Amino acid sequence: MTPGPHWYPVYVGIGSNLQGPVRQVEDAIGLLAEIPQIRLAATSSLYRSGAFGGIEQPDFVNAVVAFVTTLSPADLLSELQAIENRQGRERGEARWGPRVIDLDILVYSREKIDTPELSVPHPGIGERNFVLLPLVEIAPDLVIPGLGRVASVPVNMEEPSISRIV
Ligand code: AMP
Repeated sequence: MTPGPHWYPVYVGIGSNLQGPVRQVEDAIGLLAEIPQIRLAATSSLYRSGAFGGIEQPDFVNAVVAFVTTLSPADLLSELQAIENRQGRERGEARWGPRVIDLDILVYSREKIDTPELSVPHPGIGERNFVLLPLVEIAPDLVIPGLGRVASVPVNMEEPSISRIV
């Protein structure tokens, strides 16, 4: 039997705070599911949280999806950016400013990547509740390279409140 393609487990964080954020997050999940090299496995609830970073802006809606993919990390990043562009994301937005849609690779298998284009595992996992809490919901036993088990990562008490909305 010839070996087939290797399917790597991946977790992606999704966020939006413009133009109907709930619909934007749902649309992004739908577009991800349509990619032939991706098989969706689980979707977290949607979470609403206050923006941080000192910019006055609408609340964010966030979710995390789990899937397997045959795409390399670089090709997956290109696909995520294509979805962002399709949903009208403007490049060059402020670092913590408002955005129609944002898709981040949180975890790619056991890979540790540190290049100008990709930081994986994503540093936000240990720093941002809007990444951590949806991840705890769908993958509490996931062990993240360099960080440990997801359910053991402490919640950040300094951050704006976050609540499950769907
Ligand atoms: P942002 O404005 O937060 O969407 O950042 C976009 C840039 O972050 C992209 O140009 C990526 O090259 C870079 N980046 C670094 N690490 C990651 C990651 N884990 N997932 C997605 N984008 C990343």
